[in-house]
Amino acid sequence: MIIDGKKFARKLKLKIKKEIQSIKKKTRLTPGLTVILIGNHAPSEIYVRNKAISAKEVGINSKVLRFKNSISETKLISVIQKLNKDKKVHGILVQLPLPDHIHGHKIIEEIDPRKDVDGFHPINVGNLSSGKDSLISCTPLGCYLMIKSIRKNLSGLNALMIGRSNLNGKPMVQLLLKEDCTVTIGHSKTKNLKELCKKADIVVVAAGRANLVKGDWIKKGAIVIDVGINRVKKKNGYKIIGDVEFKSVVKKTKAITPVPGGVGPVTIACLLNNTLKAFKNINYLSSK
Ligand code: NAD
Repeated sequence: MIIDGKKFARKLKLKIKKEIQSIKKKTRLTPGLTVILIGNHAPSEIYVRNKAISAKEVGINSKVLRFKNSISETKLISVIQKLNKDKKVHGILVQLPLPDHIHGHKIIEEIDPRKDVDGFHPINVGNLSSGKDSLISCTPLGCYLMIKSIRKNLSGLNALMIGRSNLNGKPMVQLLLKEDCTVTIGHSKTKNLKELCKKADIVVVAAGRANLVKGDWIKKGAIVIDVGINRVKKKNGYKIIGDVEFKSVVKKTKAITPVPGGVGPVTIACLLNNTLKAFKNINYLSSK
């Protein structure tokens, strides 16, 4: 089975849209998301545009605040502090990467954890690892929801997470642990990745290495989630491929996400889901 990320995201967005409509009727309030975009990094421009379009689709008020690369750290912090106090803003997202003179961790720590829709604030990271309710990084949250849509009970399954970034690998590990999986983490220094992979019922790959995982690494019937986005040259131009060699792996799997059209669209839907969750938490509305 190939997991259609676009379809999955459409369904999730429809659910969010309906819930926002009903909230608006009851409270006359609208969830608000503000994205801070610094400089003119072309991929970031595309991501932010897609986020704004999707937010509008589900009825979230979204705003993009643009700043030049030269913005000072102090100025950026004062912008965030103002957004923290703004009652119409429930989600704040600072689009990465940031210019070199700005310390990412300092900026993230300034965001009110209740509005941290990227799930990067240490309080959210800590709550997730302690098994408490938290805002969860959008890409691993999307991967988790897709895995759960294939198989509800993951208890006792062997899961391999390839990649240990704060953005993907580490939160994904926490989500799999919460489901009682036996989790192994592979990374660039892991020596026997293929052997570990052969034992895994669930494989999530976020390494940023084109075609890293091959068909002969995969246990029959495994669920494979490919987070990787790699731009590779082809005859006329470029194409985007994942970290999984799709052609050889697909034959072995129970379910697999393609690239493109897998994890990417679901990540954006999860950002909307996090904005709705933040809105409900801030307004003391019950979470569904
Ligand atoms: P990162 O560079 O921060 O981390 C990569 C991780 O992979 C590291 O922990 C590293 O140890 C590990 N790694 C690198 N080479 C390896 C190898 N040969 N074998 C095993 N492990 C190896 O990257 P990231 O931010 O986690 O992103 C990973 C990939 O996911 C990138 O391609 C990125 O573009 C993509 N991504 C996709 C989405 C999405 O929505 N689809 C979102 C975020 C990131």
